[in-house]
Amino acid sequence: MAQVRLTDVAKVYDGKVRAVEDFSLTIDHGEFVVFVGPSGCGKSTTLRMIAGLEEITEGTIEIDGKVVNDVHPKNRDIAMVFQNYALYPHMSVFKNMAFGLTLRKLPREEIQQRVGEAAQMLGIDDLLHRKPKALSGGQRQRVALGRAIVREPKVFLFDEPLSNLDAKLRVTTRTEIKKLHQRLKTTTIYVTHDQEEAMTLGDRIVVMSAGRGVGRVEQVDTPLNVYRYPVNRFVGAFLGRTPMNFLPGRIERADSRLWFTRPGGLRLLMPEAYEEKLHPYVNQEVNLGFRPSALAEHPFPKYSEAGYTLPVHTVLIEPLGKNIDVSCRMQDGADILARIDARDDFPVNADITFYLDMDHVHVFEPGGFGINIIHADREAIAPAQPQHAAAGA
Ligand code: ADP
Repeated sequence: MAQVRLTDVAKVYDGKVRAVEDFSLTIDHGEFVVFVGPSGCGKSTTLRMIAGLEEITEGTIEIDGKVVNDVHPKNRDIAMVFQNYALYPHMSVFKNMAFGLTLRKLPREEIQQRVGEAAQMLGIDDLLHRKPKALSGGQRQRVALGRAIVREPKVFLFDEPLSNLDAKLRVTTRTEIKKLHQRLKTTTIYVTHDQEEAMTLGDRIVVMSAGRGVGRVEQVDTPLNVYRYPVNRFVGAFLGRTPMNFLPGRIERADSRLWFTRPGGLRLLMPEAYEEKLHPYVNQEVNLGFRPSALAEHPFPKYSEAGYTLPVHTVLIEPLGKNIDVSCRMQDGADILARIDARDDFPVNADITFYLDMDHVHVFEPGGFGINIIHADREAIAPAQPQHAAAGA
């Protein structure tokens, strides 16, 4: 296990492309951290700088307190698993897994034992004599995992390891990686563009963006905190299986309360708990954000007054088993999506009223990166310790 610390790390390619900027993060012993964000936000570049495959333009990277900026990749005690498996086609599975250990001239019995144990852990012990071309994609990726495990490195680095697998295999291999981490407790950094993979795997996730012309970190927190309290609109929009609803409007004061209003007549009462933070935004443009699951057909006990209702016209429903997704049009023409408990007789093409759970509403400043006014101070909250660390591992 090892601690990895990045301080003000930046990468500039060819003196002009700022691929990563101001990246600072401490990854704790045994922690599983996921870098997630859209293509081109600098995830792989950061991972490759940690691995030593890419030079660091600015800042420092430390492993267990030792600056590794100028340490050769093979001396960093790191094992990396790539999307394309990178297996040697002419070697058997055994030789592929043993390769790094053979280079290090470990005794033959120890190599046999380590490969045997890893193969058993991954359920590929009956494939050791095969060549990679005689394996399925999922099996190949397990061999690549096995090759990383037998080296018993201080840190595992994963670069989109599941991207070449079909949807079902992606989910089962994801679970295997998580189980493996629970067993080995090796510090792990994992790169993906898939928010669901990030949410399910990470003790903490690092949400990155490329939207301001450079790759940068938007938020670092536990998966649930990032989902519940996105620091800005970008993070709110990026995480979650279905898109967050956004409604542009204004904060106004009336009857000594604050309201979110839209020109078409929608008026939503802002809970008193948010008033202090919303106060500076009176008569200003904002974006109201809420996930489809924040809507329901029945009032929430805490928010049952008229000011929390959303009249809509239902356009289309999509059954999802336990839930249905309802595409709706508001009276002012805006389209929103609701995810509610499934029922057979839900009315389509009808005027109905939804109720909004104001505990799960966000108010963002205007713009794609507008800060979350209600939850902006969450940024200051220290990340939760990963479960196994808290348990004293
Ligand atoms: P991600 O992994 O998030 O998709 P990358 O780290 O691969 O992003 O890339 C970040 C940015 O750096 C992109 O704009 C990409 O085009 C650029 N980039 C990556 N590798 C190179 C390279 N070798 N030379 C020049 N630009 C690069």
